[in-house]
Amino acid sequence: MIGKILSKAEQRSDLNKSDLVSLLSIEEPDQLQRLFDLADLIRRENVGDEIHLRGLVEFSNYCRKNCFYCGLRRSNCLLSRYRMEMDEILDTVQLAEALGYKTVVLQSGEDSYYTLERMLWLVKQIKQRHKLAITLSIGELPRHYYEQLFEAGADRYLLRFETSNPELYKRLHPDSRYEHRMAVLKWLKEIGYEVGSGVMIGLPGQTLEDLADDILAFKNLDLDMIGVGPYIAHPDTPIAGEQSGTVDMTLKVVALTRIVTKDTNIPATTALATLRPEDGREMALEAGANVLMPNVTPVKYRAMYELYPDKVCIDEGSNQCWHCTQRRIVSIGRQLGRGSGVSPHKTASPPAS
Ligand code: SF4
Repeated sequence: MIGKILSKAEQRSDLNKSDLVSLLSIEEPDQLQRLFDLADLIRRENVGDEIHLRGLVEFSNYCRKNCFYCGLRRSNCLLSRYRMEMDEILDTVQLAEALGYKTVVLQSGEDSYYTLERMLWLVKQIKQRHKLAITLSIGELPRHYYEQLFEAGADRYLLRFETSNPELYKRLHPDSRYEHRMAVLKWLKEIGYEVGSGVMIGLPGQTLEDLADDILAFKNLDLDMIGVGPYIAHPDTPIAGEQSGTVDMTLKVVALTRIVTKDTNIPATTALATLRPEDGREMALEAGANVLMPNVTPVKYRAMYELYPDKVCIDEGSNQCWHCTQRRIVSIGRQLGRGSGVSPHKTASPPAS
């Protein structure tokens, strides 16, 4: 049964929900390797061998929301909070460019300290001073904020929906609405951003059917970037003590995301590396992923951006992370991306392989 569905996937036939559920249930090592090999082949055919780097700047860990799985949730009084000032953010961006990054990702909790005016100023300053693509990951905002930030020069926006099961979404997000989040993802597309989203694997109560729906939702939303990382239980949240997601299931979802969406940008996530620091990123890069997001946040803040516990790469300086990343890319026979890694959906010609 699973062998037949694998053959169907290898013949490049469309996979339906029931096919995806079967493939997500693969346990047998040979079949698993067949799935990863196919994802790797489809990655090479569609986005080539280059690995694109995004320098991640986590500029504030304040958040007005209370998502049940997240260490930054506003009710977590045990977390020390920080905000980076504008000059410090600009210095960090400058360092990222000097190291060789072509894209910076500005990420924070939903923090109203960074008003529209402040964010517009920041985006314009970065665009004036640097040749960098800018990705924003600052949560849900009014539509006109997204429009003005795009006009100011922001190129990409990341907003994960975490699960496509509306009931599960509701249970985990006491102050967000599933329908609104999906509407925002559509706005971002309409405005012209390259849009990134993603899900968590192994959320309490999540089923294989939910994961299959997530993969189909990626395709229906026509996303440019898709992040897939394991849920990692945080001790200072209402769902502390729940089972975390697994490396194997995360890799299966990465592989099937590549097989179904074909030409999207897919990062090997830090959450996966946290579960398997020695080679989790390499495993994802050999199962369909083509992007890495090394941290360029000043080291003094990194431990405080505690979305989940025991995050990797919190003590290494940006320079070390850059060189470590290069080594990992070379070790699997791949190349560093030369440009900013624009979404293949936005480029007219096929990528170099
Ligand atoms: S997941 Fe995002 S919005 Fe939710 S509490 Fe964490 S930082 Fe805030």
